[in-house]
Amino acid sequence: MTHVLSILTSLETSLRAVPYVGPKTLERLQKLVGTSYIDVLWHFPDRIETRLHVTDLTKTPLKTPVTVIMEVVQHCTPSRPRMPYKVVGKVGCTLITLVFFRPRVAYLQNALSIGSKRLISGSMERGQEGYQMAHPDHMGMPSELSRWVGVRPLYGLTGGLSQSLYHGVRDTVLASLRPLPEWIPLSLLKENSWVSWEASLRQIHAPQSLADLHPLTSARSRIAFDELLAHQLSLKLLKRHHTIEQGRRLEATGTLTKHLLNRLPFSLTPDQETVLKTIAEDMRSPHRMMRLLQGDVGSGKTIVALFALLHGIEAGTQGALLAPTELLAQQLYDTVVGFLGDLPVKVGLFLGRHTAKERREVQSQLTNGTLHLAIGTHALLESAVQFHNLGLVIIDEQHRFGVEQRKRLIDKGERADVLLMSATPIPRSLALTAYGDLSLCILGTKPLGRQPILTRALPMKRIDEIYAGLERLLSRQEKVYWVCPLIEESETLDLGHAENRYKELVDRFGSHRVGLIHGRIKADEQDRVMDAFKNGTIDILVATSIIEVGLHVEQASCIVIENAERFGLSQLHQLRGRVGRGSQTASCLLLYDQLPGHAKERLKTLCTSSNGFYIAEQDLKLRGGGDLLGSKQSGFPTFRTVTFPDHEALVAPTDAVAQQIIDQDPFLREEAHQPLRVLLRLFRKERVLGML
Ligand code: ADP
Ligand code: MG
Repeated sequence: MTHVLSILTSLETSLRAVPYVGPKTLERLQKLVGTSYIDVLWHFPDRIETRLHVTDLTKTPLKTPVTVIMEVVQHCTPSRPRMPYKVVGKVGCTLITLVFFRPRVAYLQNALSIGSKRLISGSMERGQEGYQMAHPDHMGMPSELSRWVGVRPLYGLTGGLSQSLYHGVRDTVLASLRPLPEWIPLSLLKENSWVSWEASLRQIHAPQSLADLHPLTSARSRIAFDELLAHQLSLKLLKRHHTIEQGRRLEATGTLTKHLLNRLPFSLTPDQETVLKTIAEDMRSPHRMMRLLQGDVGSGKTIVALFALLHGIEAGTQGALLAPTELLAQQLYDTVVGFLGDLPVKVGLFLGRHTAKERREVQSQLTNGTLHLAIGTHALLESAVQFHNLGLVIIDEQHRFGVEQRKRLIDKGERADVLLMSATPIPRSLALTAYGDLSLCILGTKPLGRQPILTRALPMKRIDEIYAGLERLLSRQEKVYWVCPLIEESETLDLGHAENRYKELVDRFGSHRVGLIHGRIKADEQDRVMDAFKNGTIDILVATSIIEVGLHVEQASCIVIENAERFGLSQLHQLRGRVGRGSQTASCLLLYDQLPGHAKERLKTLCTSSNGFYIAEQDLKLRGGGDLLGSKQSGFPTFRTVTFPDHEALVAPTDAVAQQIIDQDPFLREEAHQPLRVLLRLFRKERVLGML
């Protein structure tokens, strides 16, 4: 193993160690690929070019890269500043002029000394003065010829990095690449005719044709399999770690939950009952609960959360309920307090906007145990927030939080049970990669009596018809959301659009009937507007996607989404879920400006389906995994070499292999499984390795 360790160490060498890499280049490289040698290996070429070796300039193709061997004849210093520096050479009997703007003269004189033969590679042009090449891609020794003719891979690069510099870096890294012991079971390797890890990487970095760039070439599939295997394996190790982790037995007495059940204005759906039973069992068991509750928009997750929280409170512990926005936290608080009525449960609200004094008050009640339940936003994560005895953590819209944020709250309890909730369904194969470390349960059916939401896609130019339609809705005492996009995900930019639309609607419907809400508006103003939309005179709420998650206003029967083409499908589905929460027929209008590419098909998906899972599948097909939730914070794992949907079919097999391995050897102790530890380390799963 020591031999293997030294190979690993060399792969983990910092890019600092690459010769000729200065601090600027280093920074750019790090930004592009990452910090160490191995990161260069994971960065695959995405194009190729073919360089011809030209010996007779009169036959040279123009505007495509060529390589020549030239004898340097003369240096011409410009007569006026800002004119280019020229070097004349000879290829056979034909002259060629190299042209340099802003030259480093000393360097050129040295590198292209008169009389020497040099390899020059770049794009040739034919000007008045004959054959010319401006700023060659490469100037070197004739002995380098083999590297500068034929097919060369090209890499996606960011500003300031040239292909030839990057090729140099890659060559250094490839030179240190050594074979590692095989971690893929031999039978599988044979079945797929895969070659070794090392050979696969070498092939990937030396494509011979366009076909070699396809994500499903044998070599690329193998590496994607490796990465998925590392990922699934680490998830399974984490999950095993959770389930053997000592939790606490939280025994419910039923006193609170029975009362809640009796006062509910509806009966629980069978799915809600099943899920609640599962959660109660988890909480009662000595193991720690790590569970994800997935349920489409409007499937009734909140009430499930409340029952679970009461279970924990009956057992003498406190609960925490975390939400991603202040609006949502406030709404959850109102809902919970409303359902609880006079039950002896004390609930505190924790919001970023609260003053230091207000915070101190609830914080001390939380610490001394007077509060049973803390509901809040990121404010709950602050270190000053300390629980007396935290038994259950629930995170609503969990994909809005990073792993570290979730952990911060969870760690405030001692082995507290954890329930994550998400309304964003993701396709099953991806669920394996995203949530393989959690136990999963699903609210598949919605409460009865929900009407489908009529969804239509319309061009922006029909806005007058839409305004007329709004008048009709408003005359029936129904309310409307009007969503405007933000070009950037940050809520601070590009608010002009929402503001203009707001003004236009105010002109038409009157200022008392129209409200505006977005991230820049002060919290108490947001409250006032929300409240007026829920209970008061505001009938049209103009908003950014700030309202995407969780909001619940029953009289809202219509949502208009402008520039719908800019949103992800799943995000549109979430937004649409803001309506259809009452008994009226609800509608959703998707307005578009222009529809590029497959955008039309995307919007059609939404018009014909109300099934979040199906919509997510389509989103994946059309846009790929990274964009799945229309948001970078989706909590979806990022892969180096795996792309979706290309590699989707590899997920289930890797998952099966990982499961087989874990079942057989849960601590990876067997000799035959040692290479898997190497694999985990290659893909930086140190945390998991530490648990073994
Ligand atoms: P989400 O899963 O999107 O968070 P909510 O928990 O906000 O959904 O529930 C949406 C609405 O459905 C709420 O008004 C809630 O009171 C109501 N609801 C929840 N469960 C049921 C049920 N079993 N029958 C009828 N209505 C229900
Ligand atoms: Mg919700």
